Amino acid sequence: MERADGATAIVGPGSERGNEVLAHVAAQLDVPFAANVTEVRGDELTRIRWGGSLLEEARLHADVKLLTAAPFAFEASASPLQAEVLQPRLGDAPRVLEHVAPDTGGKVSLADAKVVVSGGRGVGSSEGFAILEELAGLLDAAVGCSRVVTSAGWRPHADQVGQTGTKVSPDLYIACGISGATQHIAGCKGAKKLLAINDDPEATIFAHADYAVVGDLHQIVPAITAELRKAKAS
Ligand SMILES: Cc1cc2nc3c(=O)[nH]c(=O)nc-3n(C[C@H](O)[C@H](O)[C@H](O)COP(=O)(O)OP(=O)(O)OC[C@H]3O[C@@H](n4cnc5c(N)ncnc54)[C@H](O)[C@@H]3O)c2cc1C
Repeated sequence: MERADGATAIVGPGSERGNEVLAHVAAQLDVPFAANVTEVRGDELTRIRWGGSLLEEARLHADVKLLTAAPFAFEASASPLQAEVLQPRLGDAPRVLEHVAPDTGGKVSLADAKVVVSGGRGVGSSEGFAILEELAGLLDAAVGCSRVVTSAGWRPHADQVGQTGTKVSPDLYIACGISGATQHIAGCKGAKKLLAINDDPEATIFAHADYAVVGDLHQIVPAITAELRKAKAS
C-alpha cells in the first residue's frame, strides 16, 4: 500500500472494525500500532488494555503513528484542520470487497439497538430467555448475554456482550442475572444508563448501575413487562 506523503499519523475509530483495519495497515507498513488510545502527549500515549481493566502508558516509536481512539474517550469538536479525502492505490493487496451484515431476522441488531436486554447465568437456561425476549419485544430492544450463557449454549456467540463479544452503547442496558465481571462491563460501559437486576445485593454489577433492583429476575422481568403492557394499553 502506498503511504500518503507527509502523513505523520493515521487515526481510526477504536471499534472492532477500526482496530482490525489499522492492524492490517500496521502489518503492511511494518510499523507499531496502538489500539484504544485515550490520550496522546507527543510520542507518549495512554491506551486501554485487557478489556478496560488496565490503562497502559506507552511510547510509539514510528515516523507514521498508527492509532485508534477508544470509544467515548475524546470530545467531538470542530477541527481547524482541512480534511482531505485520499484514494490510496492498493495494488494487489488483499481487500474487503463487500461487508455483509449478519441476518437479524428483521430484529434490531445488538450493536445498533437503543435498548439492550441482556441475560447472564442467573437466567438459568435457554428457555429462561423467553421473558427477556418478551420484554425486548415491547421495548424494540435487542437481546444480549454474558459469556457464561454462550459457553452453556443457551444463546449464540453473536449475542455475547463483552471483551470477546459485541461492544454496545445503547441508551439503556438492562442486565439481568449478570454479576458484572470486568470482561462483561468492557462491552456495555458505553451504555448511557444501566439497569441491573440481581438477587445478590453485593453483586459487582451494582457498582456500575444507574438503577438497581435487588430480586429474582424471574419475578422482576415479567413484572416490568406487565407494567409496560398496561402503560401501552392506556
Ligand atoms: C479472556 C476472557 C474474556 C472474557 N470475555 C467475556 C465477554 O466478552 N463477555 C462476558 O460476559 N464475559 C466474558 N468473560 C467471562 C467473565 O469473566 C465472567 O465469567 C462472565 O461475564 C460471568 O457471566 P455471568 O455474569 O452471566 O455469570 P456469574 O458471574 O455466574 O453471575 C451470575 C449472576 O446472576 C445472579 N443471579 C443468579 N440467579 C439470579 C436470579 N434468579 N435473579 C437475579 N439474579 C440472579 C447472581 O447473583 C450472579 O451475580 C471473559 C473471561 C475471560 C477470562
